[in-house]
Amino acid sequence: MKYVDEFHDAASARRLAAAIAARTTRPWTLMEICGGQTHSLLRHGIDQMLPEAITLLHGPGCPVCVTPAMAIDQAIAIAATPGVILCSFGDMLRVPGEADSLLTAKAHGADVRMVYSPLDAVALAAARPEREVVFFAVGFETTAPASAIAVLQAERLGLRNFSLLVAHVLVPPAIEALLAAPDNRVQGFLAAGHVCTVMGDGEYGPIARRHGVPIVVTGFEPLDLLGGILACVDALEAGRATVANAYGRSVRAGGNAPAQAAIRQVFTVVPRTWRGLGEIPASGLALAPAYAEFDAERRFPAAPAVAARASPCISGEILRGRRKPEACPAFATACTPEHPLGPTMVSSEGACAAYHRYRRPVAA
Ligand code: SF4
Repeated sequence: MKYVDEFHDAASARRLAAAIAARTTRPWTLMEICGGQTHSLLRHGIDQMLPEAITLLHGPGCPVCVTPAMAIDQAIAIAATPGVILCSFGDMLRVPGEADSLLTAKAHGADVRMVYSPLDAVALAAARPEREVVFFAVGFETTAPASAIAVLQAERLGLRNFSLLVAHVLVPPAIEALLAAPDNRVQGFLAAGHVCTVMGDGEYGPIARRHGVPIVVTGFEPLDLLGGILACVDALEAGRATVANAYGRSVRAGGNAPAQAAIRQVFTVVPRTWRGLGEIPASGLALAPAYAEFDAERRFPAAPAVAARASPCISGEILRGRRKPEACPAFATACTPEHPLGPTMVSSEGACAAYHRYRRPVAA
């Protein structure tokens, strides 16, 4: 497949790994921000091709994993309202809030539906005018444009029974929060290529300079990842706190202008709470005042607080890069993809799911 197969070439991968080893003179700790990159690193054994001096930490770049429990509880409460159809992406339905998940709510009778796009929810609202259709909008700058376009489409169609429960988050403020933490260990970042395809790489220069770390925009195929790691190690060894684009076939400096315009038109930037990271200033999106009529939080009363169940889950520490999944006492025992206890095992982009699939200890 063009643009994929040529980025899987084994001989080229070995050459890049050798170049990384040759360039590395001391220990470096890098973080890949995106869960898709985490899965690709483990799936292709790239972490095992690197010199021991390179440590990879896995960042909070899985949208389902960082959606806070209270947002899921709010979605569950809305789904339980008579007449409501609650729609979201498949992974989102399985993630537990403080206690239950949306799938549990569905089992108890709520009308919860999986969709592939927010526009599917708009079409549902148009087809079922007697019902309130709510789309639970999660994800980063990659999914926010589609949510914005759904609102614009609902407005164009004159739909009064469509709304968004918005939990979108923004990547650069999370990188900044990780770097500003007193116990930060990350010395270089691999930024997420798809987020930069939408937003460009302009937001990363000030962060790199403020914190003295290189940030390399990186793709998802094996050679993309090795190329990004090499560029990051090269910058670290040379003492450069700069931004580099190692995913030039997709990312342009200015990003995707129409997608950014849709985000700017429909949303406004707000503080947002991230699972595992707490509240981060200016790290989320909410509907702009001009689109408040589509805001499910205004249309439905706030959910009562749900008491959290005791859990061994350390996904918060994993999302901050403090620990790896194997450090969790429940990993691959009480917690599996079939019976997940936390978001990083539920999501197809979660670090625990990646370790379970590619690094699970084999029973003797
Ligand atoms: S293995 Fe399960 S319980 Fe442990 S941190 Fe991961 S998601 Fe949470």
